[in-house]
Amino acid sequence: MLALQAVTPAQLVASVSGVTLAEARKAIAAVHRGETVTANGAIRRTAAEAIRDAGSMPTLEIVDEVASELDPFVKYALDSAGARFECVRIPLEHPDRFTVCVSSQVGCALACAFCATGRLGLQRNLATWEIVEQVRIVRARLPRGRVHGAVFQGMGEPLANLDHVLEAIAVMAEPCALGIDARAITVCTAGLPNGIRRLAAEAPNVRLGISISSAIAAHRKRVMPIAERHDLEDVLAAAADHARLTNLSPMWAVTLLGGVNDSDDDARALAARSQAFTAATGRRPRISLLDYNAIGGDDPFTRSTRMPAFRDVLGAAGLASHRRYSGGSDVAAACGQLAARV
Ligand code: SF4
Repeated sequence: MLALQAVTPAQLVASVSGVTLAEARKAIAAVHRGETVTANGAIRRTAAEAIRDAGSMPTLEIVDEVASELDPFVKYALDSAGARFECVRIPLEHPDRFTVCVSSQVGCALACAFCATGRLGLQRNLATWEIVEQVRIVRARLPRGRVHGAVFQGMGEPLANLDHVLEAIAVMAEPCALGIDARAITVCTAGLPNGIRRLAAEAPNVRLGISISSAIAAHRKRVMPIAERHDLEDVLAAAADHARLTNLSPMWAVTLLGGVNDSDDDARALAARSQAFTAATGRRPRISLLDYNAIGGDDPFTRSTRMPAFRDVLGAAGLASHRRYSGGSDVAAACGQLAARV
C-alpha cells in the first residue's frame, strides 16, 4: 500500500490508474493538510476512491517531546513499530522560522567516534514516509511560524539510504506537499563519494555538507573509521564534482575535539584544502566549526578550548569560518548527541 504522504503527484499518477495530474496535486495537498482525500470540484469521485483504496497514511508515535530550557530547540523521540529515532526542531535567526534536523537511519554503521548515534550500530534504514513524517510532525506542532528548511544531520548517514532520502527530498520540495525550497535542504555526509555524485545528479538544488573532522589524514582516521575506506582526497574530488554540477558551495563541518584535531597544523591543513577546492571549482567552502557535545558514558573526548585560536589561523589564511551554535544540549538534542535514549 502506498504511503500517501511519501509520494509526489507524478508518482501518484503512475501508481493509481485513472487519476489526473491535477487531481493528484489536489489529493496530495489534502493529505499534507491532514485531510482525507474526498471528491470535490477538483477531484472526481472515482479518482478519490481509487486513491483511498491504493493508499494509507501510516504514522509515527511521538514517544517524547522535550523542549530545551537553554534555547528554542525541541527534540522529538519517535517510534515506528519498535524502532526508535529522533528529530530536532531548530530555530532560525528569522523569528518564527524553523528547520528540521531529520534522521535517515535507525542508528548508523559509520561509527564516528564523536557521535552518540555511531555507538548504536545500524539497525535499519528509514522508509521514505518515516523521513517525511518527521517534518510533518514538527510542522504540525509549531505554535506559530513555519518550517523553512530541513537538514539531514540527525541519526544515520543519509547517503547510505539514498534512494529513500532522494524520495523524501522530492516530497519535501514539492509545492503541493511540504513546499520547502530545495536550497533550504542540506544533506550532510561523513563522506561517501559515489553518493555525493549521485546526489548532485539527482537533486542538484540541494546543498551538501561534509563532516571533515581534520584535513590531516591520520587525525581524520582516528575519529572517522569511514576514512579508511574513502580518503579525504576522494571525498573532496566528489564534492568538487558536486560544486561544479550544482554551482553550490559545500558546507565543511569540523567538530573540534580537545587535543585531537584542534591544533594550528589542523587549521593550516584545512585552510590549504579549502584554497585548493576554491581554485579547482570557483566555489568557497563554508567552514562550520562545532563545539563537541558530550555523548555520555566513557566519553572519549573533551571540548576544545582552541576554537578562537583555530579560527585565527584560518583567518590569517584569508578564510572566514562560522562557529555553529548547536543548541538543545541540555536535552541531548545537539549535534552528535542523538541516540534515542528516551
Ligand atoms: S556523525 Fe553521522 S555518519 Fe558519523 S556515526 Fe554519527 S550519524 Fe553516523
